Amino acid sequence: MHDLTRRLPPSAFHYLGGELHCEGVSLSEIAAKVGTPFYCYSATRLRERYRALAAALDPLGVKIHYAMKANGNQAVLSLFALEGAGVDIVSGGELNRALSAGMLAERVIFSGVGKTASEIEAALKAGIHQLNVESFEELRLIDAIAGSLGLVSEVVLRVNPDVDAETHAKITTGKKDNKFGIDIALLDRLDNEVKSLEHVKLVGIASHIGSQIMRTAPLIATYARLLEVADMLKGRGFAISRIDLGGGFGIPYENQIELSPTDIADAIATTVAGKGYALAVEPGRTLVADAGILVSGVTYVKDAGHMQFAVLDAAMNDLVRPAMYDAHHDIVPVREPVPGTQMTDYDVVGPICESSDTFAKRLTLPEIKSGDLLAFATAGAYGATMSSTYNARDLIPEVLVEGSRWATIRRRVPIAEQIGWDRVPDWLKTV
Ligand SMILES: *Cc1c(COP(=O)(O)O)cnc(C)c1O
Repeated sequence: MHDLTRRLPPSAFHYLGGELHCEGVSLSEIAAKVGTPFYCYSATRLRERYRALAAALDPLGVKIHYAMKANGNQAVLSLFALEGAGVDIVSGGELNRALSAGMLAERVIFSGVGKTASEIEAALKAGIHQLNVESFEELRLIDAIAGSLGLVSEVVLRVNPDVDAETHAKITTGKKDNKFGIDIALLDRLDNEVKSLEHVKLVGIASHIGSQIMRTAPLIATYARLLEVADMLKGRGFAISRIDLGGGFGIPYENQIELSPTDIADAIATTVAGKGYALAVEPGRTLVADAGILVSGVTYVKDAGHMQFAVLDAAMNDLVRPAMYDAHHDIVPVREPVPGTQMTDYDVVGPICESSDTFAKRLTLPEIKSGDLLAFATAGAYGATMSSTYNARDLIPEVLVEGSRWATIRRRVPIAEQIGWDRVPDWLKTV
């Protein structure tokens, strides 16, 4: 079996005295304080990831706008804001979160296929850097709202380059049949559309073809296409000055090889760099994924005769990626296995009444007992942000560690509190 800790970056997670630690803090100590399950992030690793990407992209003049839907905790956003990052948002709620974490409005890019009028209005009032427009109808709505506010909004057009990101179907966004962006073939409508609108000014183009992209070829194809389109639009008299290259950079969950900062920089250097456009990227996952883990308790080890189930206190509502994308997360025991520990195959499952509440099948692990703690590696992206309270479960805590310090950065939201959010109408009251 593979090295248990292969997906845990050593600067963040390692065994110390027989116990898995996040930096200088023992995970079982945190578990004793906040209860399981919980998410734990390493501040040092978050910074390391950001700085490595920035070091590769700064020489090319490429700005980083962190796609905060990967992990939108206020503490994580503050950390990136202090590093000088911008942010890519996909809702008015994310705008709120970004601004309250101290992110400057002029570093905000707003993407998304279904921005509502009130979201557009909030973004224009805040004075964000860039609205990425996904349809002609949205363009007309922005024009109307900007007009009512007495503004001219600079906009960037998200185009659909029809490139296959070669990733999971549920996270592919750059094919013609995906709902995202405007088909390049339709851009000849722009002359009539944009030139008749007085309150929008087209200043750039954007694209984002999907997530968890592991090869540079689709990126290179996309970036080259974007350059062609930008040049073509310029030739038609539009003052195109920006190209937003999107995110989607893949990371290893299992045996894959990371799309490294150098790979990303090379793809940009060989295509759009140095062509006179201001460049931006929107990475989410690559900045946060391996800086976070989900720590779960083992509630039961269920012997089903022909197989063993490890039944955890974490479930698909806490970490939905395995159920939703068939995603793999390495699972690591918090207590370091002593040499010679018996290896056993487990189906690792949560307690929820759905068969898809399964984290791993026939996974070989050092023998597990009830009461043990397990850590899911590479859970810093699309973990906490996609969690829910399905089955009337608590929203679980998130913890940030830096050196020997740690803090709860989102407290547990217990079900008793959530019940208080409901209202029973008078005519149904029984108590
Ligand atoms: C989700 C998203 C991203 C980030 O994707 P990652 O795979 O996390 O890098 C970037 N841009 C847009 C428009 C997105 O929707």
